[in-house]
Amino acid sequence: MKQPVKQHLIDPEICIRCHSCEAACPIGAIEHNGNNVVVKAEACNFCMACIPVCPTGSIDEWRVVETPYTLDEQYGWTELPAQATLASGADEDAPEALDSAVAELLADAHKGAGGKAKAPASASKPSVNLYPMGKPAQATVQGNYRLTGENADADVRLIILDFGAQRFPVLEGQSLGIIPPGLDKDGKPHLPRLYSVSSPRDGERPNYNNVSLTVKRAPGGVCSNYVCDLKKGDKVDVTGPFGATFLLPEDPKARLLMICTGTGSAPFRAFTMRRQREGLRGGGDMTLFFGARTPDSLPYFGPLNKVPSRILRKHMVFSRIPGVPKEYVQDRMLVEAEDVAEMLADPNLHIYICGLRGMEEGVEKAFVNIAESTGTPWATLRDAMRGEGRYHVETY
Ligand code: NAP
Repeated sequence: MKQPVKQHLIDPEICIRCHSCEAACPIGAIEHNGNNVVVKAEACNFCMACIPVCPTGSIDEWRVVETPYTLDEQYGWTELPAQATLASGADEDAPEALDSAVAELLADAHKGAGGKAKAPASASKPSVNLYPMGKPAQATVQGNYRLTGENADADVRLIILDFGAQRFPVLEGQSLGIIPPGLDKDGKPHLPRLYSVSSPRDGERPNYNNVSLTVKRAPGGVCSNYVCDLKKGDKVDVTGPFGATFLLPEDPKARLLMICTGTGSAPFRAFTMRRQREGLRGGGDMTLFFGARTPDSLPYFGPLNKVPSRILRKHMVFSRIPGVPKEYVQDRMLVEAEDVAEMLADPNLHIYICGLRGMEEGVEKAFVNIAESTGTPWATLRDAMRGEGRYHVETY
């Protein structure tokens, strides 16, 4: 009988094809085709370098197998196969199936703020990867509007894409990929770049088959410059939709605590618009901590200010107003510690963090501080919330 082995796999339903794992793998054990991102069983040495960089937790999948799944099998999956019952009787959770060094590394990787994500129990079922890299949808640009002030150093834009007769269903919190035209430095077609959808499921304009994105021009950025320069009527190759966990709960009692920096606000615009269009039915309120350099460079500053505070409590903080001390979202969370503590104690609370990877550490520290003042260790609360699909992180 073959000795069972642990195989590292990627969940194709949850993976958002950002390829961070592939870039992080020091031995080239991760690769992709137009459909999926996969792990070479014979090459993977369980170094775990790919685990913390994955924004969705889709990388964190393991099966105990007698014969490892081949790359061709993995490329063909639309969902991950369940753990098979093995002739040897070993099961996925059996400690003997896991090398102890691997078990230790895994436990360490899971300690971080990201961890293995789970969708809210009441979220709608998302469609995933309907248009893979090899067969993208073609969208037409309907609009391209600057969101930041003329004098702001950041050029952030609202891009509206129309899918015409093609079905491209999205849920708030999902992302899509844009394939910039041309070839990369190795002469290969560019990989898609991912952007969160910033419109609700029924469209930027209700009942139109369109979506919006919030994109910041990055100096030298291949895709961001391509997207920010798009003109009305241009055609764009789009992959996706992606993401099956960073989703809005449908439960109207669910309270949302949303923490973001810069263009990480994109999904929260979608959440807010969805809730506004639905009407406030069940008492679930929304609180936003939003960090930007200046009011001028904060996307949606004007429209956000118009959302009544009974719908959305807003804490907009700024790091580079001349003559004013730098303030980050985590600083304001501490100022509002009493309110945050009250929310943390509520089993209806869902936490969402989106934006710069660097913010995670500071936000974690703020939560440790606030949660401990209530007598509950943050790590315990966070892990329980994550397990219940109430704690979500998407940082790059
Ligand atoms: P940014 O303008 O560079 O930064 C926004 C604010 O965050 C600034 O005030 C900045 O302060 C502050 N900040 C910097 N380091 C921080 C830290 N350690 N803790 C807390 N705040 C910190 O942001 P951006 O360029 O828009 O970047 C947003 C991020 O969101 C990117 O990583 C992007 O990939 C990601 N994202 C984008 C989308 C999308 O759809 N476009 C979706 C999801 C996530 P200072 O600069 O003054 O230090």
